[in-house]
Amino acid sequence: MHLARFARIRLAHLPTPLEPLPRLSEELGLDLWIKRDDCTGLAGGGNKTRKLEFLLGAAVEAGADTLVTQGAVQSNHVRQTAAAAASHGLACDIILEERTGSKATDYVGNGNVLLDRLFGARLRTVPGGADMAAELEITAEAVRTRGGVPYVIPGGGSNAIGALGYADCARELVVQADDMDLAIDRIVTATGSAGTHAGLVAGLAVIGAYIPVLGIGVRAPKDRQEANVFKLAEETAALLGQPGRIARDRVVADCDYVGEGYGLIDQGVIDALTLAARLDGIVLDPVYSGKAMKGLIALARGGAFKGETVVFLHTGGAQGLFGYQTEIEGALR
Ligand SMILES: *Cc1c(COP(=O)(O)O)cnc(C)c1O
Repeated sequence: MHLARFARIRLAHLPTPLEPLPRLSEELGLDLWIKRDDCTGLAGGGNKTRKLEFLLGAAVEAGADTLVTQGAVQSNHVRQTAAAAASHGLACDIILEERTGSKATDYVGNGNVLLDRLFGARLRTVPGGADMAAELEITAEAVRTRGGVPYVIPGGGSNAIGALGYADCARELVVQADDMDLAIDRIVTATGSAGTHAGLVAGLAVIGAYIPVLGIGVRAPKDRQEANVFKLAEETAALLGQPGRIARDRVVADCDYVGEGYGLIDQGVIDALTLAARLDGIVLDPVYSGKAMKGLIALARGGAFKGETVVFLHTGGAQGLFGYQTEIEGALR
Protein backbone atom coordinates (compact mmCIF):
# COMPACT_ATOMS: atom_id res chain seq x y z
CA MET A 1 0.00 0.00 0.00
CA HIS A 2 1.53 3.29 -1.10
CA LEU A 3 -1.07 6.01 -0.66
CA ALA A 4 1.15 8.92 -1.70
CA ARG A 5 0.37 7.89 -5.29
CA PHE A 6 -3.16 9.24 -4.81
CA ALA A 7 -4.25 12.88 -4.73
CA ARG A 8 -4.93 13.77 -1.11
CA ILE A 9 -5.72 16.95 0.78
CA ARG A 10 -4.98 16.70 4.49
CA LEU A 11 -8.02 17.43 6.62
CA ALA A 12 -7.80 14.95 9.50
CA HIS A 13 -6.11 15.06 12.87
CA LEU A 14 -4.19 11.78 12.71
CA PRO A 15 -3.50 9.34 14.16
CA THR A 16 -6.72 9.23 16.15
CA PRO A 17 -6.26 7.84 19.68
CA LEU A 18 -6.67 4.14 20.50
CA GLU A 19 -7.90 4.01 24.10
CA PRO A 20 -9.18 1.42 26.60
CA LEU A 21 -12.79 1.50 27.82
CA PRO A 22 -12.24 0.14 31.35
CA ARG A 23 -15.74 0.31 32.81
CA LEU A 24 -17.57 -0.84 29.66
CA SER A 25 -15.04 -3.72 29.49
CA GLU A 26 -15.90 -4.75 33.02
CA GLU A 27 -19.63 -4.36 32.44
CA LEU A 28 -19.57 -6.47 29.27
CA GLY A 29 -16.90 -9.01 30.25
CA LEU A 30 -14.40 -8.38 27.44
CA ASP A 31 -11.29 -6.29 26.80
CA LEU A 32 -12.86 -3.39 24.93
CA TRP A 33 -10.89 -0.59 23.24
CA ILE A 34 -12.04 2.37 21.21
CA LYS A 35 -10.49 3.87 18.06
CA ARG A 36 -11.45 7.53 18.28
CA ASP A 37 -12.43 8.44 14.74
CA ASP A 38 -14.96 10.76 16.33
CA CYS A 39 -11.83 12.91 16.86
CA THR A 40 -10.68 13.21 13.22
CA GLY A 41 -11.53 16.92 13.15
CA LEU A 42 -13.44 18.75 10.35
CA ALA A 43 -16.71 20.15 11.71
CA GLY A 44 -16.42 18.08 14.86
CA GLY A 45 -14.95 14.92 13.36
CA GLY A 46 -16.26 11.55 12.24
CA ASN A 47 -15.48 8.89 9.67
CA LYS A 48 -16.12 11.03 6.57
CA THR A 49 -12.97 13.12 7.21
CA ARG A 50 -10.64 10.29 6.15
CA LYS A 51 -12.68 9.63 2.99
CA LEU A 52 -12.89 13.32 2.13
CA GLU A 53 -9.09 13.69 2.14
CA PHE A 54 -8.96 11.54 -1.00
CA LEU A 55 -12.28 12.74 -2.49
CA LEU A 56 -11.35 16.43 -2.11
CA GLY A 57 -7.91 15.61 -3.50
CA ALA A 58 -9.54 14.05 -6.58
CA ALA A 59 -11.99 16.96 -6.92
CA VAL A 60 -9.27 19.60 -6.85
CA GLU A 61 -7.13 17.54 -9.24
CA ALA A 62 -10.11 17.44 -11.63
CA GLY A 63 -10.40 21.26 -11.50
CA ALA A 64 -13.77 21.27 -9.71
CA ASP A 65 -15.07 24.36 -7.94
CA THR A 66 -18.19 22.78 -6.41
CA LEU A 67 -18.72 19.62 -4.36
CA VAL A 68 -22.09 17.94 -4.96
CA THR A 69 -23.34 15.22 -2.64
CA GLN A 70 -26.42 13.78 -0.95
CA GLY A 71 -27.54 12.23 2.30
CA ALA A 72 -30.36 11.84 4.79
CA VAL A 73 -31.53 15.09 6.42
CA GLN A 74 -29.28 14.54 9.49
CA SER A 75 -26.35 13.26 7.40
CA ASN A 76 -22.92 13.57 9.00
CA HIS A 77 -21.37 13.03 5.57
CA VAL A 78 -23.14 16.12 4.26
CA ARG A 79 -22.00 18.20 7.25
CA GLN A 80 -18.39 17.14 6.78
CA THR A 81 -18.48 17.60 2.99
CA ALA A 82 -19.86 21.14 3.47
CA ALA A 83 -16.99 21.85 5.88
CA ALA A 84 -14.38 20.34 3.53
CA ALA A 85 -15.65 22.51 0.68
CA ALA A 86 -15.62 25.66 2.84
CA SER A 87 -12.11 24.89 4.11
CA HIS A 88 -10.75 24.92 0.54
CA GLY A 89 -12.81 27.68 -1.06
CA LEU A 90 -15.17 25.40 -2.99
CA ALA A 91 -18.95 25.74 -3.20
CA CYS A 92 -21.14 22.89 -1.96
CA ASP A 93 -24.51 21.79 -3.35
CA ILE A 94 -26.45 19.23 -1.32
CA ILE A 95 -29.56 17.11 -1.75
CA LEU A 96 -31.15 15.97 1.51
CA GLU A 97 -33.47 12.94 1.41
CA GLU A 98 -36.35 12.86 3.90
CA ARG A 99 -35.43 9.24 4.59
CA THR A 100 -36.82 8.96 8.11
CA GLY A 101 -39.99 10.97 7.40
CA SER A 102 -39.43 13.01 10.58
CA LYS A 103 -40.69 16.60 10.49
CA ALA A 104 -39.63 17.38 14.08
CA THR A 105 -38.19 20.91 14.35
CA ASP A 106 -34.90 19.68 15.79
CA TYR A 107 -34.58 16.96 13.12
CA VAL A 108 -35.10 19.31 10.15
CA GLY A 109 -33.27 22.35 11.53
CA ASN A 110 -30.85 21.52 14.32
CA GLY A 111 -27.76 19.27 14.57
CA ASN A 112 -26.12 18.58 11.23
CA VAL A 113 -28.60 20.74 9.26
CA LEU A 114 -27.73 23.83 11.29
CA LEU A 115 -24.03 23.17 10.60
CA ASP A 116 -24.63 22.56 6.85
CA ARG A 117 -26.22 26.00 6.68
CA LEU A 118 -23.47 27.57 8.77
CA PHE A 119 -20.89 26.29 6.25
CA GLY A 120 -22.87 27.95 3.46
CA ALA A 121 -23.94 24.78 1.62
CA ARG A 122 -26.82 25.14 -0.83
CA LEU A 123 -29.47 22.66 0.33
CA ARG A 124 -32.50 21.20 -1.38
CA THR A 125 -34.76 18.50 0.04
CA VAL A 126 -36.43 15.57 -1.73
CA PRO A 127 -38.94 13.01 -0.42
CA GLY A 128 -37.77 9.69 1.07
CA GLY A 129 -37.24 7.00 -1.57
CA ALA A 130 -36.26 9.49 -4.32
CA ASP A 131 -33.74 8.29 -6.93
CA MET A 132 -30.69 9.92 -5.35
CA ALA A 133 -28.32 9.07 -8.23
CA ALA A 134 -30.67 10.93 -10.59
CA GLU A 135 -30.97 13.83 -8.13
CA LEU A 136 -27.16 14.12 -7.97
CA GLU A 137 -27.05 14.37 -11.76
CA ILE A 138 -29.78 17.05 -11.80
CA THR A 139 -27.79 19.14 -9.32
CA ALA A 140 -24.50 18.57 -11.17
CA GLU A 141 -26.18 19.81 -14.36
CA ALA A 142 -27.52 22.89 -12.54
CA VAL A 143 -23.97 23.67 -11.36
CA ARG A 144 -22.68 23.37 -14.96
CA THR A 145 -25.50 25.60 -16.19
CA ARG A 146 -24.44 28.35 -13.80
CA GLY A 147 -20.86 28.02 -15.09
CA GLY A 148 -19.42 25.90 -12.29
CA VAL A 149 -17.40 22.68 -12.38
CA PRO A 150 -19.08 20.06 -10.17
CA TYR A 151 -17.44 17.06 -8.53
CA VAL A 152 -20.05 14.48 -7.52
CA ILE A 153 -19.40 12.53 -4.32
CA PRO A 154 -21.70 9.54 -3.76
CA GLY A 155 -23.73 9.21 -0.53
CA GLY A 156 -21.43 8.60 2.44
CA GLY A 157 -18.37 9.25 0.24
CA SER A 158 -18.43 5.52 -0.40
CA ASN A 159 -16.59 4.71 -3.58
CA ALA A 160 -13.10 3.23 -3.91
CA ILE A 161 -11.45 6.66 -3.69
CA GLY A 162 -13.22 7.47 -0.41
CA ALA A 163 -12.57 3.98 0.96
CA LEU A 164 -8.81 4.61 0.63
CA GLY A 165 -9.24 6.64 3.82
CA TYR A 166 -10.25 3.50 5.71
CA ALA A 167 -7.58 1.36 4.09
CA ASP A 168 -5.22 3.91 5.65
CA CYS A 169 -7.07 3.69 8.97
CA ALA A 170 -6.51 -0.09 8.99
CA ARG A 171 -2.77 0.48 8.58
CA GLU A 172 -2.78 3.20 11.26
CA LEU A 173 -4.63 0.96 13.74
CA VAL A 174 -2.31 -2.01 13.21
CA VAL A 175 0.78 0.19 13.71
CA GLN A 176 -0.71 1.61 16.93
CA ALA A 177 -1.62 -1.82 18.26
CA ASP A 178 1.85 -3.15 17.46
CA ASP A 179 3.45 -0.21 19.28
CA MET A 180 1.28 -0.98 22.33
CA ASP A 181 1.79 -4.79 22.15
CA LEU A 182 -1.98 -5.06 21.82
CA ALA A 183 -3.20 -8.17 19.99
CA ILE A 184 -6.61 -7.32 18.48
CA ASP A 185 -9.07 -10.21 18.03
CA ARG A 186 -11.80 -8.24 16.31
CA ILE A 187 -12.82 -4.81 15.06
CA VAL A 188 -16.48 -3.79 15.43
CA THR A 189 -17.95 -0.81 13.58
CA ALA A 190 -21.18 0.57 12.16
CA THR A 191 -21.67 -0.21 8.46
CA GLY A 192 -23.94 1.91 6.26
CA SER A 193 -22.95 3.11 2.79
CA ALA A 194 -20.09 0.58 3.14
CA GLY A 195 -16.96 2.68 2.57
CA THR A 196 -15.68 2.40 6.12
CA HIS A 197 -16.17 -1.36 6.39
CA ALA A 198 -14.89 -2.01 2.84
CA GLY A 199 -11.85 0.22 3.30
CA LEU A 200 -10.90 -1.53 6.54
CA VAL A 201 -11.27 -5.00 4.98
CA ALA A 202 -9.28 -3.95 1.90
CA GLY A 203 -6.56 -2.24 3.94
CA LEU A 204 -6.14 -5.19 6.30
CA ALA A 205 -5.95 -7.61 3.35
CA VAL A 206 -3.44 -5.51 1.45
CA ILE A 207 -1.10 -5.24 4.46
CA GLY A 208 -1.66 -8.91 5.33
CA ALA A 209 -3.16 -8.30 8.81
CA TYR A 210 -6.24 -10.50 8.84
CA ILE A 211 -8.09 -9.10 11.85
CA PRO A 212 -11.81 -10.00 11.59
CA VAL A 213 -14.08 -6.98 11.08
CA LEU A 214 -17.70 -7.15 12.21
CA GLY A 215 -19.95 -4.50 10.67
CA ILE A 216 -23.17 -3.76 12.52
CA GLY A 217 -25.73 -2.74 9.90
CA VAL A 218 -27.80 0.43 10.21
CA ARG A 219 -30.07 0.12 7.17
CA ALA A 220 -29.89 -2.75 4.64
CA PRO A 221 -30.47 -6.46 5.34
CA LYS A 222 -27.39 -8.68 5.80
CA ASP A 223 -27.24 -10.16 2.26
CA ARG A 224 -27.35 -6.78 0.57
CA GLN A 225 -24.98 -5.13 3.06
CA GLU A 226 -22.35 -7.85 2.73
CA ALA A 227 -22.64 -7.78 -1.07
CA ASN A 228 -22.17 -3.98 -1.11
CA VAL A 229 -19.19 -4.12 1.23
CA PHE A 230 -17.55 -7.00 -0.66
CA LYS A 231 -17.91 -5.28 -4.04
CA LEU A 232 -16.44 -2.03 -2.72
CA ALA A 233 -13.64 -3.84 -0.84
CA GLU A 234 -12.68 -5.56 -4.11
CA GLU A 235 -12.73 -2.25 -5.98
CA THR A 236 -10.61 -0.65 -3.27
CA ALA A 237 -8.03 -3.45 -3.28
CA ALA A 238 -7.90 -3.19 -7.09
CA LEU A 239 -7.33 0.59 -6.85
CA LEU A 240 -4.47 -0.22 -4.44
CA GLY A 241 -2.96 -2.45 -7.11
CA GLN A 242 -4.03 -5.77 -5.58
CA PRO A 243 -7.11 -7.02 -7.45
CA GLY A 244 -8.71 -10.30 -6.34
CA ARG A 245 -7.26 -9.93 -2.86
CA ILE A 246 -10.52 -10.04 -0.84
CA ALA A 247 -11.93 -13.40 0.31
CA ARG A 248 -15.73 -13.23 0.42
CA ASP A 249 -15.83 -14.71 3.94
CA ARG A 250 -13.78 -11.75 5.26
CA VAL A 251 -16.88 -9.58 4.86
CA VAL A 252 -19.26 -10.08 7.78
CA ALA A 253 -22.21 -7.87 8.67
CA ASP A 254 -24.77 -8.39 11.44
CA CYS A 255 -27.92 -6.51 10.52
CA ASP A 256 -30.09 -7.68 13.42
CA TYR A 257 -29.89 -4.36 15.26
CA VAL A 258 -31.36 -1.97 12.67
CA GLY A 259 -34.64 -1.85 14.62
CA GLU A 260 -37.47 -0.12 12.78
CA GLY A 261 -35.25 1.38 10.11
CA TYR A 262 -32.50 3.81 9.18
CA GLY A 263 -32.35 6.78 11.52
CA LEU A 264 -35.17 5.47 13.72
CA ILE A 265 -34.05 5.05 17.28
CA ASP A 266 -35.34 2.67 19.92
CA GLN A 267 -34.77 2.03 23.61
CA GLY A 268 -31.81 -0.27 22.81
CA VAL A 269 -30.01 2.64 21.11
CA ILE A 270 -30.78 5.01 23.96
CA ASP A 271 -29.53 2.43 26.47
CA ALA A 272 -26.29 2.09 24.44
CA LEU A 273 -25.88 5.90 24.33
CA THR A 274 -26.36 6.20 28.09
CA LEU A 275 -24.17 3.22 28.98
CA ALA A 276 -21.21 4.55 26.92
CA ALA A 277 -21.74 8.08 28.24
CA ARG A 278 -22.12 7.14 31.90
CA LEU A 279 -19.50 4.39 32.17
CA ASP A 280 -16.67 5.79 30.06
CA GLY A 281 -17.67 9.36 29.13
CA ILE A 282 -18.10 8.57 25.43
CA VAL A 283 -20.65 10.38 23.23
CA LEU A 284 -22.14 8.12 20.55
CA ASP A 285 -24.68 9.08 17.90
CA PRO A 286 -28.25 7.84 17.54
CA VAL A 287 -28.06 6.63 13.89
CA TYR A 288 -24.72 4.80 13.52
CA SER A 289 -22.31 4.40 16.43
CA GLY A 290 -25.19 4.10 18.94
CA LYS A 291 -26.77 1.33 16.87
CA ALA A 292 -23.40 -0.39 16.50
CA MET A 293 -22.88 -0.18 20.27
CA LYS A 294 -26.41 -1.54 20.81
CA GLY A 295 -25.35 -4.56 18.72
CA LEU A 296 -21.98 -4.90 20.43
CA ILE A 297 -23.63 -4.83 23.88
CA ALA A 298 -26.24 -7.45 22.92
CA LEU A 299 -23.62 -9.73 21.32
CA ALA A 300 -21.22 -9.34 24.27
CA ARG A 301 -24.00 -10.13 26.77
CA GLY A 302 -24.79 -13.23 24.68
CA GLY A 303 -21.16 -14.35 25.08
CA ALA A 304 -20.07 -13.70 21.49
CA PHE A 305 -16.75 -12.01 22.37
CA LYS A 306 -15.73 -14.04 25.42
CA GLY A 307 -12.05 -13.54 26.23
CA GLU A 308 -11.50 -11.33 23.18
CA THR A 309 -9.76 -8.00 22.77
CA VAL A 310 -12.23 -5.98 20.69
CA VAL A 311 -11.66 -2.55 19.12
CA PHE A 312 -14.82 -0.51 18.62
CA LEU A 313 -14.26 1.98 15.79
CA HIS A 314 -16.09 5.15 16.86
CA THR A 315 -17.22 6.68 13.58
CA GLY A 316 -18.49 9.94 15.14
CA GLY A 317 -21.89 11.51 14.56
CA ALA A 318 -22.48 13.22 17.92
CA GLN A 319 -23.67 16.35 16.06
CA GLY A 320 -26.72 14.34 14.98
CA LEU A 321 -27.77 13.94 18.62
CA PHE A 322 -29.14 17.46 18.54
CA GLY A 323 -31.57 16.45 15.80
CA TYR A 324 -33.10 13.89 18.15
CA GLN A 325 -33.63 15.91 21.32
CA THR A 326 -37.34 15.05 21.46
CA GLU A 327 -36.87 11.25 21.22
CA ILE A 328 -33.84 11.04 23.52
CA GLU A 329 -34.98 13.42 26.23
CA GLY A 330 -38.25 11.51 26.65
CA ALA A 331 -36.49 8.16 27.04
CA LEU A 332 -33.58 9.01 29.37
CA ARG A 333 -33.62 7.02 32.57
C1 LIG B 1 -21.59 7.55 7.59
C2 LIG B 1 -21.45 7.09 8.98
C3 LIG B 1 -21.23 5.74 9.29
C4 LIG B 1 -21.27 4.66 8.27
O1 LIG B 1 -20.12 4.62 7.49
P1 LIG B 1 -20.21 4.08 6.00
O2 LIG B 1 -18.87 4.25 5.46
O3 LIG B 1 -21.28 4.89 5.34
O4 LIG B 1 -20.65 2.64 6.08
C5 LIG B 1 -21.01 5.39 10.61
N1 LIG B 1 -21.04 6.31 11.59
C6 LIG B 1 -21.27 7.61 11.34
C7 LIG B 1 -21.30 8.55 12.48
C8 LIG B 1 -21.47 8.05 10.03
O5 LIG B 1 -21.73 9.34 9.79
